[in-house]
Amino acid sequence: MATQRILDFLATRRPSGPCLVVDLDVVRDNFRAFEKALPDSKIYYAVKANPAPEILRLLAAMGSSFDTASVAEVEMAMDAGAPADRISFGNTIKKERDIARAYQLGIRLFAVDCVEEVEKIARVAPGARVFCRVLTDGEGAEWPLSRKFGCVPAMAVDVLRHAKGLGLDAYGVSFHVGSQQTDLTAWDRALADAKVVFATLAEEGIVLKMVNMGGGFPTRYLRDVPAAQAYGQAIFSALRKHFGNALPETIIEPGRGMVGNAGVIKSEVVLISKKAANDNVRWVFLDIGKFGGLAETMDEAIRYPIVTPHDGTETAPCVLAGPTCDSADVMYEKTPYPLPLSLTIGDEVLIEGTGAYTTTYSAVAFNGFEPLRSYVI
Ligand SMILES: *Cc1c(COP(=O)(O)O)cnc(C)c1O
Repeated sequence: MATQRILDFLATRRPSGPCLVVDLDVVRDNFRAFEKALPDSKIYYAVKANPAPEILRLLAAMGSSFDTASVAEVEMAMDAGAPADRISFGNTIKKERDIARAYQLGIRLFAVDCVEEVEKIARVAPGARVFCRVLTDGEGAEWPLSRKFGCVPAMAVDVLRHAKGLGLDAYGVSFHVGSQQTDLTAWDRALADAKVVFATLAEEGIVLKMVNMGGGFPTRYLRDVPAAQAYGQAIFSALRKHFGNALPETIIEPGRGMVGNAGVIKSEVVLISKKAANDNVRWVFLDIGKFGGLAETMDEAIRYPIVTPHDGTETAPCVLAGPTCDSADVMYEKTPYPLPLSLTIGDEVLIEGTGAYTTTYSAVAFNGFEPLRSYVI
């Protein structure tokens, strides 16, 4: 949300053009809230949510570990001060030469979801720890992760057995319950699957040690979401239920939940118009859209809170669109967005909850629009 520090920054610096401002105090509070909610779990910040060096440095200094998806992200985490043993290569889709490079840099923890990937790792990262990702249904998530990552639990058993056979350390199981997950029971279902993999392999003498419980922790957009503490309690009871007293090591990988509410995008109204004189829906065009960083408005999945200078006055439904010459650059149309009738061209609006998944999604120069600028304060 727009903290006083962010408002002061915008008022004094008056940056021109759309930009993201991230308040590090909020990131610090979020990290502490995760530590408090799940004191026995290690926190691996998902770098892709927002890789700003200031954010990575803060988290590294606070003792965070990092979930990375590429060699470049591994290097960003290291440049921020994270030692290799606090970095996981969590992408299940890696080139063999990138695995080799990460191994050279000291990375020893890798994600897999098939035997083909295990074979790559065995060839170039001998002895490394691997964890196998299992599919989840993604139900309850506003940004589900589909079937792209993970395999069914029965296959995870084969994958980890294969890893062990090739001399790797069959270390554990991972899952991701889907991003912006507001159903507290989602972890319970996934942990039940993880337990099946643990138990099946234990019968063969392969003892797994770790469950990576992924991300999915939500940020507040238009609706309230449960606090980190509620997630901590739900997850801890699910762990107890499925693993009893033999609790495994656990990891969480918050991305959105760590930085989403720390950032605000300042934008300007470029045009307000109608398609016919008697239309009751106005089209409001901002200087930022899907290609400027708001890619998560795809299918109207994420609905950001928008603050205008006229809040509290009468509103009417608007179609909200970006400034580019691409017809896909419309953010909210199926469900129009209520905005004040007195909103005018040139007004500045604040798009809240935009600290995650914005800067890195913005195009390099589509239609000549600069990539989203970001200030971390
Ligand atoms: C993207 C990602 C995350 C972060 O997910 P959030 O929903 O933003 O918390 C965590 N783990 C993995 C493997 C990811 O790909």
